[in-house]
Amino acid sequence: MFTPTHPLPYGRQHITDDDVAAVVETLHSDFLTQGPRVAEFEEKFAAYVGARYAVAVSNGTAALHLCALALGVQPGQRVITTPITFAASANCVRYCGGEVHFADIDPATGLLDLAAVRRLLEAHPRGYFTGLIPVDFAGLAVDMEAARALADEHGLWLIEDACHAPGGFFVDSQGQERRCGSGQLAELAIFSFHPVKHIATGEGGMITTNDEAMARHLRRLRTHGIERDATGLLRQDEGGWYMEMQELGYNYRISDLNCALGLSQLARAEAGLARRRQLAAAYDAAFTATPGVQVLAPGRAGHAYHLYVIEVANRRGLYEFLRTKNILTQVHYVPVHRMPYYERLGWEFGDFPHAEAYYSRCLSLPLYPTLTDEEQQYVVACVQEFLAHNPTA
Ligand SMILES: *Cc1c(COP(=O)(O)O)cnc(C)c1O
Repeated sequence: MFTPTHPLPYGRQHITDDDVAAVVETLHSDFLTQGPRVAEFEEKFAAYVGARYAVAVSNGTAALHLCALALGVQPGQRVITTPITFAASANCVRYCGGEVHFADIDPATGLLDLAAVRRLLEAHPRGYFTGLIPVDFAGLAVDMEAARALADEHGLWLIEDACHAPGGFFVDSQGQERRCGSGQLAELAIFSFHPVKHIATGEGGMITTNDEAMARHLRRLRTHGIERDATGLLRQDEGGWYMEMQELGYNYRISDLNCALGLSQLARAEAGLARRRQLAAAYDAAFTATPGVQVLAPGRAGHAYHLYVIEVANRRGLYEFLRTKNILTQVHYVPVHRMPYYERLGWEFGDFPHAEAYYSRCLSLPLYPTLTDEEQQYVVACVQEFLAHNPTA
């Protein structure tokens, strides 16, 4: 039987000779940072997701922080997100002193359950909550049309955390495909270019929006709150050196080296997405015929497949067994409300039963464009071997 020569992680980057050449070319250029590659990456990424503006930043977490700042999150404000996400989706609210609230997930999709969000909103007076941060978990796009309608009804802004779903889409009520982060439904959307995500830049992130003023504000916040000449009226006796710090910003810039890599990767994004979908379909076919395995949200249109998640009764056992087979799976995620930091803020076990039940059973299997058919078949065979020896365990 085939055995892999190297460990199979749940996700990994794909770096080609062209990627290396693009970075080397930038190394030899005049700009390592604040040069032409940043704007070019922003422009091409905006076109890829169908948004008007894109603002590149140092990582996805910085993107979330800037979004919360640009939307004016303040101490005392309350924002809702999902417990099944990376902690950063919630933390951005805390950076600005706001309160994080959660609603439970839909067990069929792993996504924030908008019906649960509605119940939470309706249990409080209008104005109690100010924003909603849905997450395109695992690459499955949130129905942002429904989220927008709910947000409008209750006067909330929306940040779409689309880190898992560049190139993903949902089908709206008119039958139209609507890409994640297209800028049409959420005020702001964010992406990450960490190596386990679809497009790798090392560290990197992006914010997309259709709001020009918001994009301009985000660019200023990204670089210390400084603009060269915000009013367009140079102060008397000021020359070409002049710049103004208008507000307290940060250095959340991304470098030209990162963006050169991102541009080269972006050119292959559709191919990578197609391969992810092909691998997911093969897993679906294998596991729908495997008793004891439940696939999270199989066969959905527009799924971008950052993760391939299965649910099993003996998750711990399967995880350990696969490690002995050189298959390094991962769990996405320990629910955010169960993090000790959030528990100290008052959340506890039992608050979100669907999220907790999902967490006790979920496992992310290897899924990345360079995973070979042979390697995937080995993963499937190992999962099936475990379940054959541990029925209903
Ligand atoms: C990766 C990720 C982030 C954070 O991105 P970084 O680039 O690692 O800071 C935020 N939200 C989700 C859902 C993510 O997967």
